Amino acid sequence: KCPDDFMVSKLLGEDEDSTVVLAQDISTGKQYAIKILDQEKLAHEDKLSQVQKEQHVISRLKHPFFVKLHYTFEDEKRLYFVLSYAKNGELLSYIEANTSLPLECARFYAAELVLALEYLHRLRIIHRDLKPENILLTDDMHIQITDFGTAKLPNDHRSDLKRTTSFVGTAEYVPPELLTTKRSCISSDLWALGCIIYQMLSGKTPFHDDSEYYVFQKIVSRDFRCPVNMDTDAQDLIGKLLVVDPDGRLGSAGLGGFDKLKSHPFFRGINWQGLHLETPPMMG
Ligand code: ATP
Repeated sequence: KCPDDFMVSKLLGEDEDSTVVLAQDISTGKQYAIKILDQEKLAHEDKLSQVQKEQHVISRLKHPFFVKLHYTFEDEKRLYFVLSYAKNGELLSYIEANTSLPLECARFYAAELVLALEYLHRLRIIHRDLKPENILLTDDMHIQITDFGTAKLPNDHRSDLKRTTSFVGTAEYVPPELLTTKRSCISSDLWALGCIIYQMLSGKTPFHDDSEYYVFQKIVSRDFRCPVNMDTDAQDLIGKLLVVDPDGRLGSAGLGGFDKLKSHPFFRGINWQGLHLETPPMMG
């Protein structure tokens, strides 16, 4: 494949590093999201290794809950990643549009996230930037996790430092261990899962404040409170995920791993085997 095989129909988004467009494969009519990166800029800013890592991680993932990398190609100016197109955009927009999600939706998407993390962690990959902006929704409203630019692969010991020194994006999902020891671990994604379940049910992140400094203070001191009207099983689950000690988080290996997490009462009634084939509950 090459750029001429695709017809671009819409700009999906752009930032200083990349442009993402919706495009159609001319021969099959299939739609894709193509991420386009400027080669010269990547080399100049030393970001090539990060992009290569992202490409490497995504190409290893063969699971319905992750964005798929279908093709990569380049011309003298640009790199192109042809990704599966998640037609319904970011989970965040649905939370913001409804100010929170109905309980059944939050339960369903929390369960899909659990299965996605179980798969990722079996490969010993840590996402490290899980948040509702990076959880896309397909045309049939199942999740597709994206943005592996800050993911950590097994035996990748150098990237912790990079992650903390080039910290970008919202601070609200950062686990306490990254702030105190400058290291993340496989359970760091479980902390983010706790933040996302809280956000789906309340419309807000558990640790928010006017400045990053105060957000970080709240995170390290685990200063959060669930709204009183929040489902009590959800409150219990969030409390067991938002634990400062990574080894004390429900879902961590020492606490029975994902089997234990999946058997929490909040997930009662979830069909773990056939979840990706179910029709997701309506957002409202
Ligand atoms: P980053 O946090 O890495 O800067 P971003 O939030 O700017 O990422 P990009 O990955 O650059 O997001 O994507 C830009 C826009 O395109 C976002 O709005 C994103 O939701 C959308 N997008 C990215 N990949 C896809 C995809 N596979 N399907 C549908 N939309 C996508």
